[in-house]
Amino acid sequence: NDMEDIKRKIEAMEPGSEERKMGVREWRRLKRIPQGSVEHGVIRSYLEWLTSIPWPSSSTAAATSLSLETLKDRSFLTKARQQLDSDHFGLDKIKRRLIEYLAVVRLKQMAAVAEEEIATSAAKPSPDSVPVEVSSLALPRLPKKTVKGPILLFVGPPGVGKTSLGQSIARALNRPFQRISLGGVRDEAEIRGHRRTYVASGPGMIIQALRKAGRPDPVLLLDEVDKVGQSNFHGDPSAALLEVLDPEQNHSFNDHYLNVPVDLSQVLFICTSNTLETISAPLLDRCEIIQLSGYTYDEKLHIARRFLLPKQLQANGLTASHLTIDDPALLHVVTQYTREAGVRSLERAIGSVVRFKAVEWAEHVDREEQDKYKAVVQESELEAILGIARWDGEEKEREERRGVVYGLVVTGQGEGGILPVETMAVPGSGRLKLTGSLGDVIKESGEIALSWVKTHAYDLCITNSRSEDPLKVPDPIDIHLHLPSGAQKKDGPSAGIAMTCAFVSLLSGACVPTNVAMTGEITLRGRVTPVGGIKEKVLGAHRAKISKVILPWANRKDVEHDVTAEVRNSMQFVFVRTIEEALQAAF
Ligand code: ATP
Ligand code: MG
Repeated sequence: NDMEDIKRKIEAMEPGSEERKMGVREWRRLKRIPQGSVEHGVIRSYLEWLTSIPWPSSSTAAATSLSLETLKDRSFLTKARQQLDSDHFGLDKIKRRLIEYLAVVRLKQMAAVAEEEIATSAAKPSPDSVPVEVSSLALPRLPKKTVKGPILLFVGPPGVGKTSLGQSIARALNRPFQRISLGGVRDEAEIRGHRRTYVASGPGMIIQALRKAGRPDPVLLLDEVDKVGQSNFHGDPSAALLEVLDPEQNHSFNDHYLNVPVDLSQVLFICTSNTLETISAPLLDRCEIIQLSGYTYDEKLHIARRFLLPKQLQANGLTASHLTIDDPALLHVVTQYTREAGVRSLERAIGSVVRFKAVEWAEHVDREEQDKYKAVVQESELEAILGIARWDGEEKEREERRGVVYGLVVTGQGEGGILPVETMAVPGSGRLKLTGSLGDVIKESGEIALSWVKTHAYDLCITNSRSEDPLKVPDPIDIHLHLPSGAQKKDGPSAGIAMTCAFVSLLSGACVPTNVAMTGEITLRGRVTPVGGIKEKVLGAHRAKISKVILPWANRKDVEHDVTAEVRNSMQFVFVRTIEEALQAAF
């Protein structure tokens, strides 16, 4: 019966196509081999795979036309916009970009359909011509026009909605969605499959996803492309990925197991990644990069209220009448219990609150005391529910101190924040000691900063004459510079001005207020040059309630382009060209 099914599916394949030829050949082999032998099982499972792929033949055409109908719909773009809005709060620029993208996909697809219709109507035999035996003729397959928009690459810190945006796009296009997790893929065979000679071999993740989707035109989300392994003795996974994503090649993607070219040109690929740094240049080149950065407190409150709380309520069998969290309490959760760019821990924290209240509600019902149940959660109850706040009091800890200055950083997860640059004078002989898991570049920044401060010590009123070394007179000292937290690796040149300010503060005794934070690379001559990650850093500063940010002059455009007006208006920006200007702004 299963065998009949396989046979029927082979017969339904497009005549003359590679997959059909392969299917027929293997089918004949299968018939010659005794049932129950190992070989029989191997061929049979191969045929099961081969026949379960959504080949662009009649069986899937109906489903595909469904998405065509969606595209033809005159209100498609409005509906897509509604879909995006109903799934995500904010992200206006990104949604606008996605709508553009969808519009392009639609235009191209319609053009391709029109072209194909013309081609097929021309190829139709006139009624009075002699009928030919079709199955005996190996018709060359019509070259399908490839419908390609650019490949989207969502880049951003965890939990900002990259994966769920991909899902949203699939819904807007009315196509199936499949997620392929590339994190930690070391072996090319995971992407492309193992050859059939291997024991227990099977196709790679791309083909598996295609089969699960059941249609030749799904949205495939390649999650975490930054974490795919580079070339090694198991082959080159990133090269395999390139082939998948390259529109020039992917109309005949070759899976080692199937060993028949598969047309991926109708698949819509979306990639996600936490950073751009570890993605190979050729891959980046094929992608249209869309940056997502973290949310402000205000945005998080909206997201929590409109999306996360309703979602958690539903997941736990409650309704809004059973539980509301008042504004101060919600803000308290956002600021004191979570510290992240995205909203994932926030969602978890809200989930804990909902479950806690679900138990409470159930107990009240059991005791028939529903009228005594209190639906509103207030700030004072949070500690009983969520435990002691993890980040409580950190802001208060920020006391003004000689030799301590706040710099702006982006962590490995892409979240921005502030980081104290701590310096201290210890008895010694004029050396600089650097700690805090620092890389070479950041260490060099420290050296540059100290050299600059030494040469300008007299102008800064640190020493009494030009020839004096501030580390030798009046007492010989070493300077110890430390960046907490000690175990986290740090590198990059962007701490230059913060280090300079810290040295000046340490040696002169003047303090930098704790509501000031800064970032910028410096040169030996005292110029301040631009740095990356401005948007994340500024958002991080905003979250940390910094009121004055010092940035390189050349980064003005980043602030104007990438930072929302809400954040821009909440603090003062000082753009500096030289270290002198930075010092003036800081002290
Ligand atoms: P990672 O890099 O860790 O994979 P991600 O960016 O893929 O993170 P998602 O899984 O897409 O993160 O998002 C986490 C959760 O936050 C999801 O439940 C998502 O719906 C929700 N979320 C994120 N941003 C928004 C938003 N703007 N509006 C509503 N919900 C959001
Ligand atoms: Mg994700």
